[in-house]
Amino acid sequence: MSLISIIIPIYNEAKCLETLATRLFSIEKNIEEKFEFIFVNDGSNDETLDILHSFEKAKENVKFISFSRNFGHEAATTAGIDHAVGDAVVVIDADLQDPPELIPELIQKWKQGYQIVYAQRRNRIGENSITKLTSWMFYRVFKLVSHIDMPLDTGDFRLIDRCVAEQLLTCREQNRFIRGLISWVGYKQCAVLYDRDERFSGRSKYNLIKRSLLAMDAFLGFSTVPLRIVLVFGIIICFFSIIMLGIIVVQRIFFAMPMEGYALLTSAIFFLSGVQLFVMGLIGEYVGRIYTHSQNRPLYIIAEQSESLPKGYEARIELLKKAKV
Ligand code: UDP
Ligand code: MG
Repeated sequence: MSLISIIIPIYNEAKCLETLATRLFSIEKNIEEKFEFIFVNDGSNDETLDILHSFEKAKENVKFISFSRNFGHEAATTAGIDHAVGDAVVVIDADLQDPPELIPELIQKWKQGYQIVYAQRRNRIGENSITKLTSWMFYRVFKLVSHIDMPLDTGDFRLIDRCVAEQLLTCREQNRFIRGLISWVGYKQCAVLYDRDERFSGRSKYNLIKRSLLAMDAFLGFSTVPLRIVLVFGIIICFFSIIMLGIIVVQRIFFAMPMEGYALLTSAIFFLSGVQLFVMGLIGEYVGRIYTHSQNRPLYIIAEQSESLPKGYEARIELLKKAKV
């Protein structure tokens, strides 16, 4: 019989937790697999941690990890995957936008031989049109520039096999985009379609700025195409500038025309300064990522965790190495 680890990253979702737990735990009844539920408290400042303590006391296969502060959704998901010991690992949001009742279907596909089973959104209820449009664009542009076969319109709600989870253990970059990493690992993938529900309670922790930052992590983490685009842009601008210069010189020498057009000149200078700042900023983003990565800080700090969970991912990597020798 297989063990399935369910990872739930949580940031201030106390109001959702009771209903989430009832719905999550009820999937156990109709399925032969065993489960471990790993709740990851990402530095919540509501009653989340107290509720997790009570869950742990009430049910023996409930475990939790609690961070010393808010490290972000990607770090919380990473911590869950790092500590999971199941043959398959499912990541699901705490706000009940992803229906726990779909998990048996994901497991079914996994048993048919797929190592990654992602839940693909057919519909997104209760999300505004800007979120839907920007997210629709993001998936398509990302696919184009990253050369990674990442499925369109899928969130983090998915099942991964142990072999994929082990590979993720070795990817320790700071600015993470886990959906991209999972697709990057490869293996056989398939989709299960579902309708994304409204949030059970509270508001999304991702506003437009946070969403854009995550999109930037995705683009810069998986592609150097942005650098190439500005390079090509630079070449085009140089080409036209040389032609313009040629025309001005010819007009001056052969037709004795006065050089006019301060407005044109000023706007050209402003435009080129803008382009240069943009390019410098873009390069800076890549350099910044090299810098944070070279600092080699941990991705998250655990303040408290269930006794039954393995301690730290380094220990797991050591075990893995020994198993391979
Ligand atoms: N979350 C987290 N840390 C954060 C932000 C969010 O662990 O810093 C959790 C959150 O509690 C939820 C999941 O990540 O379970 C997805 O977050 P949210 O629902 O706000 O994102 P959305 O569904 O709007 O993209
Ligand atoms: Mg949500």
